[in-house]
Amino acid sequence: MKFARVVTDLALDKVFDYKIPPEMHGLAVPGSRVQVPFGHTKKTGFIVSLTNESDFPHNRIKPISKLVDTQPLIPQTLMKLGEWIARYYCCSIEQGIQVLLPGVVRGGNVKKKKQLAVKLVDRKKAEKELPTLEDKFPKQALVIKKLFQRGETLLSTLKYELSISDSAIKTLEKKGLLIKEKIEIQRDPFSSDRIIPSNDLDLNDEQAVALDSIKNAIDEAESVVTLLNGVTGSGKTEVYLQALRHCLIQDKSAIVMVPEIALTPQTVERFRSRFGDRVSVLHSGLTDGERFDEWMKIHEKKVSIAVGARSALFAPFQNLGLIIVDEEHEATYKQNETPRYHARDVAVVRGKMENAAVVLGSATPAFETLYNVKKGRYKEVKLQKRFDSQPMPDVKIIDLKHESGEVGAGYSMFSKTLVSDVYKCLDQGEQVILFLNRRGFATTMQCLECGYVAECEHCSKTYTFHRNYNQLICHYCNDIHIAPTKCPKCGDKEIRFSGLGTEKVEDLAKKIFPAAQIARMDSDTMSSEKDYRAVLQKFRTGKIDILIGTQMIAKGLHFPNVTLVGVMLADLGLHVPDFRAGERTLQLLTQVAGRAGRGEIPGRVLIQTLSPFHPALQSAKNHVYEPFFHEEIDSRKIFFLPPDTHMILIHFSGEDENLVSKTAANFAEALSKVLIGDDFQMGDAVPSPIEKVAKKFRYQISIRTTKVMKASLILRQAVVGRKIDKRIKFYVDVDPYSLM
Ligand code: ADP
Ligand code: ZN
Repeated sequence: MKFARVVTDLALDKVFDYKIPPEMHGLAVPGSRVQVPFGHTKKTGFIVSLTNESDFPHNRIKPISKLVDTQPLIPQTLMKLGEWIARYYCCSIEQGIQVLLPGVVRGGNVKKKKQLAVKLVDRKKAEKELPTLEDKFPKQALVIKKLFQRGETLLSTLKYELSISDSAIKTLEKKGLLIKEKIEIQRDPFSSDRIIPSNDLDLNDEQAVALDSIKNAIDEAESVVTLLNGVTGSGKTEVYLQALRHCLIQDKSAIVMVPEIALTPQTVERFRSRFGDRVSVLHSGLTDGERFDEWMKIHEKKVSIAVGARSALFAPFQNLGLIIVDEEHEATYKQNETPRYHARDVAVVRGKMENAAVVLGSATPAFETLYNVKKGRYKEVKLQKRFDSQPMPDVKIIDLKHESGEVGAGYSMFSKTLVSDVYKCLDQGEQVILFLNRRGFATTMQCLECGYVAECEHCSKTYTFHRNYNQLICHYCNDIHIAPTKCPKCGDKEIRFSGLGTEKVEDLAKKIFPAAQIARMDSDTMSSEKDYRAVLQKFRTGKIDILIGTQMIAKGLHFPNVTLVGVMLADLGLHVPDFRAGERTLQLLTQVAGRAGRGEIPGRVLIQTLSPFHPALQSAKNHVYEPFFHEEIDSRKIFFLPPDTHMILIHFSGEDENLVSKTAANFAEALSKVLIGDDFQMGDAVPSPIEKVAKKFRYQISIRTTKVMKASLILRQAVVGRKIDKRIKFYVDVDPYSLM
């Protein structure tokens, strides 16, 4: 091939042709990082494809200046995936390709870490000298003996282990017995952890059936997607581990994706203890250097399994056999900046491209996934029992309208049943989780005299009162004010706080259960991974009796001594303008409930609510999932909503409301001329459900379609590279997860 098509890191959505100089033939391939002349400067870019043709006059095409790496950084199959992302998610090719590489690798600023090591120049010579040294210079003799044992050793290790200074080493160097050199070392994020190896467990019958099915899928020549639909605590992870083993035995590599929130030491340890050094772990807590090293380990085929959050999906394996997406229903798989890809869906596409099996695991599958099962696109295997047949927790719904305020004024959020059940647990030395999906103390601050409500100046939302800091904080733009003691409008002192947050739950719990050890876990109290680990550790060792928290504590945690889970107010997510409100509530309740009774003593769950008959709550109570799914699918169909269709949202925002609304309306009109036919339903440009955030007015256009790729491609032409007024920001969200 004569020419290479190159994308540079400028977001132009354009590929440029360059000549491949003879010495680069065979080395410059798709995925190679190259330096190319660009105007008067040089740019770094990636080769997307090779070709013999170019629309550009051949004699004016410039040659590639330099190959940056000896091997292509991105496997060719991944380059295809990047292009697919650009087409499907309506972004430029550069953006689609950028997502394939961690910034630290792309930027090329981080290098492998090197340290000084020493080694013997000539073993024979050293052996001869040893007796003399032992006689006169015992320290030097120690060094020589250590090097006999170890071979090349890091200088720092040597000095530490032998408690010697530099001078002994320097003398030996002068005598020509040893030399120093720099060697590459791995930054190991786990170096401080001790990992105890574990072996495959004997599977129960359901697990064995599931594993067989997944093994068959791995052995198939074509990609098979399997939903592993297993109740909380059914032992899905053990099935993953043994499926991974099957993959490794065949010399294939594998990716395990877990939501960031589940990347707790608990999860990571299970993979590391089974597969040791063959596992690389990628998560947001890594330093740039560590991230670089982990990525390089995969690139250089030193590991076969990558475990990580969203970005692990792009691990540059070349012989992929299996991709596992744990908790596939989790919202964090959707990236909320461009490219706005959904890692689960892209995993399915990568699996197809590379003939790798894909396993989607969940106790509460996304309705999109269940829908694909019903359509016959995905296989399904079920784990319906907890792994050693512990019963599912007993779930009770408590109608707060009938049962509250029994403990005294102000305590109305603790029903009588909840209070007495918590006491029972505490008496028996068992632990309790209290869950509320909202942080802060109160969500509205209102003046009883004039009716004033403290609303954020920049957003169409009320401030949340955080009593610990005595602050009003806007949860949308993070604007912070000192909380007023009297009404800012009329000066009256009768200010009332209403709407419940975790801070208030903690406050009340401390009053109602004064003898209990209580801790709260939400993004206000957990500022680092260390805090998080520390609280979990205290909870595990029984130093905390009651753990209060937001969805941070709802998922993935395994604490056998938790026998009671109280949901303070299940209604929070129910009445929001989002067609997935019911689905999400059921998922969240099921996950929280799954934290109870994972040990020997059966668990109990109390769901407090003002909407006791809501079908999502009733389903959670009865541990049934599918009836609600079918009910929902039927009603969504009527409104042409996913999963029967796909949705695309186009967002506009800016400080000048008129300009935003006009731009959005013009765009909608232009679009309506190209998106025509029964496959597309397009709405008008309308204000977003949250009309204003951080001083910016927000508008959106929604499209629903049965032909999503077609719609994306049409839209892409209208969007990518389009110049609109600088004062307006806009972006496209294909398969949006948030409609706000
Ligand atoms: P899930 O991921 O489905 O919620 P886990 O994989 O966390 O469930 O399993 C719950 C508990 O059951 C874990 O402590 C795990 O070690 C244990 N477990 C799972 N399968 C087995 C098995 N076959 N034999 C013994 N213990 C098991
Ligand atoms: Zn705000």
